Amino acid sequence: SHNPIRPWRDIARRTSRQIMVGNVPVGGDAPITVQTMTNTLTTDVKATVEQVQRAAGAGADIVRISTPDEASTRALRQIVAESPVPIVADIHFHYRRAIEAAEAGAACLRINPGNIGDAKRVAEVVRAAKDHNCSIRIGVNAGSLERHLLEKYGEPCPDAMVESGLDHIKLLQDNDFHEFKISCKASDVFLAAAAYQQLAEATDAPIHLGITEAGGLVAGTVKSAIGLGNLLWSGIGDTIRVSLSADPVEEVKVGYEILKSLGLRTRGVQIISCPTCARQGFDVIKTVETLEKRLEHIKTPMSLSIIGCVVNGPGEALMTDFGFTGGGAGAGMVYVAGRQSHKMTNDQMIDHIVELVEGRAAELEAA
Ligand code: SF4
Repeated sequence: SHNPIRPWRDIARRTSRQIMVGNVPVGGDAPITVQTMTNTLTTDVKATVEQVQRAAGAGADIVRISTPDEASTRALRQIVAESPVPIVADIHFHYRRAIEAAEAGAACLRINPGNIGDAKRVAEVVRAAKDHNCSIRIGVNAGSLERHLLEKYGEPCPDAMVESGLDHIKLLQDNDFHEFKISCKASDVFLAAAAYQQLAEATDAPIHLGITEAGGLVAGTVKSAIGLGNLLWSGIGDTIRVSLSADPVEEVKVGYEILKSLGLRTRGVQIISCPTCARQGFDVIKTVETLEKRLEHIKTPMSLSIIGCVVNGPGEALMTDFGFTGGGAGAGMVYVAGRQSHKMTNDQMIDHIVELVEGRAAELEAA
């Protein structure tokens, strides 16, 4: 790549234990994974499988599915069988659903062992998880802290959230269960960040990052980028989920963009483009929109600069695999590996760039 990792771009990740979610490693030196969650009715197997497949197509490494009742855990079996990625079953309170989900083939259970009843029930869930090779995610949420912690601390705060997390961890460890990861989400970025920082010090378990109920596509993306970005930048986080009131595919795309911005993960074509102004030699905005759609299928990491004019074009092209910079008279300059290569007319440029990128992707995949 023409944008190599330099010392000032390098993020030192917190050292965490590695666990497996199905065949996907989480923590340790594994790449930071991107997750999303379905929003179909789980009992509608066809719609749920279709959504899982679309999310996986967009790059989701792991997908979570709510299993609120027995009909859902029954449906889960078929969904798991047809899913290209490991499935996490999302369970609240009902220990039976957890056991059913493990039996149905869930790769991970999202459950808080402190909220499912007595020690016997916890032991039963842990046994089911062990028997079926299931990991567990403890999911602390500022909005649903245990009553005794709210009484002790007065309100949701980092101390209360971390104490809740450590209590749940202890229950699993007491049952000799160590294949767990943990999250402590809040919709407030300050609260979430402080809680995660504290949690990162208190445990070596892999950390699942999320800003919960972040909002709609634009607001939620910005909030997640700030909250998750801050934590990831400081090295915290082994798997992420962006929560948006939007299509799960959007969550996956935003998740990747956050990781790509920090150089923590690469996937597909990263387009660098200018905001445009009166100097642009071609319609940059429309071109980028079209290129994003036409290059969506490319998984090979590659960078592309699409810049309106020579003010910034050559400089950006220096750091990208391919570039196009607007010129005059309906044509511009194509850059390859940072160097001026050849002229191309604006009207043929999109097809030409797509061809170049597809060709390079095929070359790299064959290599
Ligand atoms: Fe304007 Fe050129 Fe800057 Fe694009 S690169 S915003 S066209 S000056």
